[in-house]
Amino acid sequence: MNTTAAIKIWSECLNFIKDNIPEQSFATWFLPIQAVSIENSILTVQVPSRFFYEWLEEHYIKLLKTSLQKVIGIDAKLVYNIVVKKDSKNLNDHITVNIPSSNTQKVKSQNFTNFYATGSDFKNPFIIPGLQKIKVDAQLNHSYSFDNFIEGESNRLGRSGSLAVSEKPGGTSFNPLFLYGGVGLGKTHLANAIGLKVKELFPEKIVLYVSMEKFTQQFIDSVKSNNRNDFIHFYQMIDVLIVDDVHFLSGKKATQDVFFHIFNQLHQNNKQLILTSDKSPIDIQDIEKRLISRFKWGLSAEINKPDFVTRKAILKSKLLKDGFELSEEIIDFVANSVKSNVRELEGAIISLIAHSSLTKKEITLDLAKKTLEGFINYARKEISIEFIQQVISDYLKVPIESIQSKTRKRDVVQARHLSMYFAKKYTNSSLSSIGSKIGKRDHATVLHACKTVVNLSETDKVFKGYVDEIDKKIFVN
Ligand code: ADP
Ligand code: MG
Repeated sequence: MNTTAAIKIWSECLNFIKDNIPEQSFATWFLPIQAVSIENSILTVQVPSRFFYEWLEEHYIKLLKTSLQKVIGIDAKLVYNIVVKKDSKNLNDHITVNIPSSNTQKVKSQNFTNFYATGSDFKNPFIIPGLQKIKVDAQLNHSYSFDNFIEGESNRLGRSGSLAVSEKPGGTSFNPLFLYGGVGLGKTHLANAIGLKVKELFPEKIVLYVSMEKFTQQFIDSVKSNNRNDFIHFYQMIDVLIVDDVHFLSGKKATQDVFFHIFNQLHQNNKQLILTSDKSPIDIQDIEKRLISRFKWGLSAEINKPDFVTRKAILKSKLLKDGFELSEEIIDFVANSVKSNVRELEGAIISLIAHSSLTKKEITLDLAKKTLEGFINYARKEISIEFIQQVISDYLKVPIESIQSKTRKRDVVQARHLSMYFAKKYTNSSLSSIGSKIGKRDHATVLHACKTVVNLSETDKVFKGYVDEIDKKIFVN
């Protein structure tokens, strides 16, 4: 083996490479490489991990080839030598593996294991070099499993998609699996359940659950401490990545970029991505088109509000778990009263149980009604555009028909503007749907109305007083 010659040749290659890439990339990806030998125009270099090798092959293959041909000649070939731990208990026990350059297809993923199985005394042919060294705490919540997730019409697609993905992570066309829907409907629960199931079926897979908020924070920290590359490497080693609440990406350009990059890497390597969001991909605001298009690549499943039957089933399962019994009548009452989401349903049952155990009273329908009164009023309250117009009409003594008409009378215009402003504030309706419901106006008129109310409130104290009073009436009613 001709190490001295290899070192000399490699350092000439490095000189060329250095001039052609940014300093930071050079330091990260080329300085850690060591020349091992040169034989018949084949240069062997040692790299720290499989990941490192894959990265070089993917990003720098052309540059490597050009530099080698410049220094060694047209026949130049490159072989990577990767140090792999042989036995996880014995840190010093290593073997090395040689992989020819530009051979990624052959050595990636499962085929990599065959590479070991032949001619080596490798004990576990399924150990993947590089990856085997890291242990990642999956950050899963053990109480959110498939076993205690109640299936219903509202979540059937999401649940079956999630099960399919757990049984074959990265091996279905559901990649990414995009679960979306309103708050408290079970998105986080399902996403967690996938993680738990994968861990159960494939203990060797690296699973990670992370909220987009935490991901963003980690990314910002990594940039501050100059560890952006480590951050990216870490995420690229995950087999099943669960990112909760991706709508958090909205308006965060730099995080969108890095997430895009990680998404692509994982997807290309058939790693599974599971994403949740409170909006469908196209409804997420302020997010790059290329990300939205990727979010739509796999399966998008909407989780809806549970229907009565499902609400009852969820209540019963919750009661069973807590060792409580309630009559069918009371369960019906609760399931009928709390319709908004599962989290509120759970809250209702918890306050009922708490009330009964504190007062040592048996739970009767009457007690249930009393206990849940405030709760239900709150949960039930859905502010509609019609209701808003009614409040404003009563308060300003302007008939609803006038608000709906084309009249330009000053007091009517003001009532119309206020209706639009509060509709924007308290409903989820879009500007154009608010416009069509209040006097058949377009979205620009609604926008103008909202601005007028805000401006006037800032300059006119009396008007501001009206706004505050109407606000109270709408919200407290
Ligand atoms: P999201 O992430 O959609 O806001 P979560 O997954 O946090 O909602 O769910 C809110 C609560 O409701 C959790 O305690 C969860 O266990 C429970 N939950 C939601 N859907 C179901 C379901 N189908 N069966 C049982 N529990 C559910
Ligand atoms: Mg959630």
